[in-house]
Amino acid sequence: MDTRALRNPYPDYDGCPASTQAFFDSQGKLTSEFAQRLSSKVSELLAVMENGLRSADPRNCTTYTGWAGIALLYLHLHDVFKEPAFLQKASDYISRSLKCLTRRHDVTFLCGDTGPLAIAAVVYHRLQRVQESDECINRLVQFHQTVVKGSGNLPDEMLYGRMGYLYSLIFINQQLRQDRIPLQYIQQISEAVLASGEHQSRKFRVQNQSPLMYEWYQEQYVGAAHGLAGIYYFLMQPGFVSAEEQVHRLVKPSVDHVCRLKFPSGNYPPCIGDDRDLLVHWCHGSPGVIYMLLQAHKAFGVPQYLEDALQCGEVVWKWGLLKKGYGLCHGAAGNAYTFLALYRQTQDPKHLYRACMFADWCMNYGKHGCRTPDTPFSLFEGMAGTIYFLADLLDPMRSRFPAFEV
Ligand SMILES: [Zn+2]
Repeated sequence: MDTRALRNPYPDYDGCPASTQAFFDSQGKLTSEFAQRLSSKVSELLAVMENGLRSADPRNCTTYTGWAGIALLYLHLHDVFKEPAFLQKASDYISRSLKCLTRRHDVTFLCGDTGPLAIAAVVYHRLQRVQESDECINRLVQFHQTVVKGSGNLPDEMLYGRMGYLYSLIFINQQLRQDRIPLQYIQQISEAVLASGEHQSRKFRVQNQSPLMYEWYQEQYVGAAHGLAGIYYFLMQPGFVSAEEQVHRLVKPSVDHVCRLKFPSGNYPPCIGDDRDLLVHWCHGSPGVIYMLLQAHKAFGVPQYLEDALQCGEVVWKWGLLKKGYGLCHGAAGNAYTFLALYRQTQDPKHLYRACMFADWCMNYGKHGCRTPDTPFSLFEGMAGTIYFLADLLDPMRSRFPAFEV
């Protein structure tokens, strides 16, 4: 992991209020100086991003690296700062995205057409363009039967599979604050994912260790983006699987199987059978697996899950400032969400302090000799993701890893 990360230059939290008082008070509220610093950096980076986007691929509609991701950033900034200009920007970018939908079989929030449709539905709803919003939701729901049936060997994971479609539905319900998409739709997808997982577990003859199993491109991925941890995170959300009994009988032992893959460092492999302890990304490794662990702790109350999650925090603190840069998917901003998740669950100021240190790193964007990503201004690989995180840190208890956390 040493070859992939830069040395963390920050002193760790020492338990003294003195070490945190420049950043937040005893209630976890950011100081006005630090909040101001974050806000000015958001404005400064936004100007750089806008300029950089002039040379972005005009035909990339996706949330992951295209126009929908930029729209999602502006929607978030509108939430945080309440400035109407941000909503207008979100509207401009999402209409650009809708003009170049993939029209392929990709059905996910991050890499397919349903992300742009879901984001558009929310943007139009906020602009009180009710008819256009409804139309986007109707188009989104039209994918439902195909996703449940899974024609064309649809996988189950987050980036290209059923869970990525499921997230589009949840996004609508969360943002419109109502059960706009009936829970039954979400449960039908969860059931299809469970059936697929039981089938694959039998196929690989691992029923005794893990009643569910999933593969993508002939690999059994472990992390949040393509793998088991991302899938189980959603299956453990209250009500997503209608029969509680299935969560205990199928999901819990499968989560335990992932837990057994932990390296001595506290990190997790990218795939089952890969024993190289190298990657500390949201997409592969502990910064993504932690969401499964924290949800398992909420769902089953077993202390070991929280202990494993805390160990993820230690891994990210040591090896999370990546040479790959400052992005969400495999960068410092995405890794910083590990600390925010731990802070929300434990309220231990140590984790908020660590998130603030990673934010400081991100505010020195470009000064550490990191690599430039392929899409340097995008939401998941580039600067838009870093801005999203800096704005999210302003209200730590409301923060959520975008396009993923419920
Ligand atoms: Zn990644």
